[in-house]
Amino acid sequence: MDTTDTKKSEVLTDGMLLTAEQLIRDVPDFPRPGIMFKDITPVLSSPKAMREIIDRFAEFVLPRKPTAIVGIESRGFVFGMPLAYELGLPFVPVRKMGKLPYKTIHEEYDLEYGTNTVEMHEDAISTGDRVIVVDDLLATGGTANAAKRLVERLGGTVEGFTFLVELGFLHGRLALAHEDILSLITYN
Ligand code: AMP
Repeated sequence: MDTTDTKKSEVLTDGMLLTAEQLIRDVPDFPRPGIMFKDITPVLSSPKAMREIIDRFAEFVLPRKPTAIVGIESRGFVFGMPLAYELGLPFVPVRKMGKLPYKTIHEEYDLEYGTNTVEMHEDAISTGDRVIVVDDLLATGGTANAAKRLVERLGGTVEGFTFLVELGFLHGRLALAHEDILSLITYN
């Protein structure tokens, strides 16, 4: 028997957290020296892990009675869109500056060095919308907070956030200052 296959099937029959942890690849010094990049592409190539992640997200999100799912470019799309599809909800993309074709509103946020800007179409959220913000990873919380501000400027409320990974040592959870934050794997 091929031992690689055996190992893989053992990983996939374990609990979800172990499965996903085994499937997240640490890439040192990407995109810059000193950054440990959490590469989630192995998760995307495991249908079982993806199924479990989207199911866990849906379980958390449903009681919050959302009317829309907001995903943050670009890895927030790959978790946000299947969640929206699963729940039968509209999906709203938040994108980097200059990518959305129609009229937009934008929000700037701080990075370690400099700033970044994200945008949303101005008709993407309506007054009273109850929104869940989805991304692959919570680091300092700057990106997710900018997405929240976009939703609120259009009259919506953020009812929760979901992330696959949380870098606990960067305290993004404190920065978001929200009661309803789900992350499936935390690195401390
Ligand atoms: P932040 O705004 O600091 O919470 O950063 C979160 C955003 O940056 C997410 O869209 C992540 O995909 C990305 N990101 C930040 N740090 C990492 C990391 N170490 N590995 C992978 N993605 C990261």
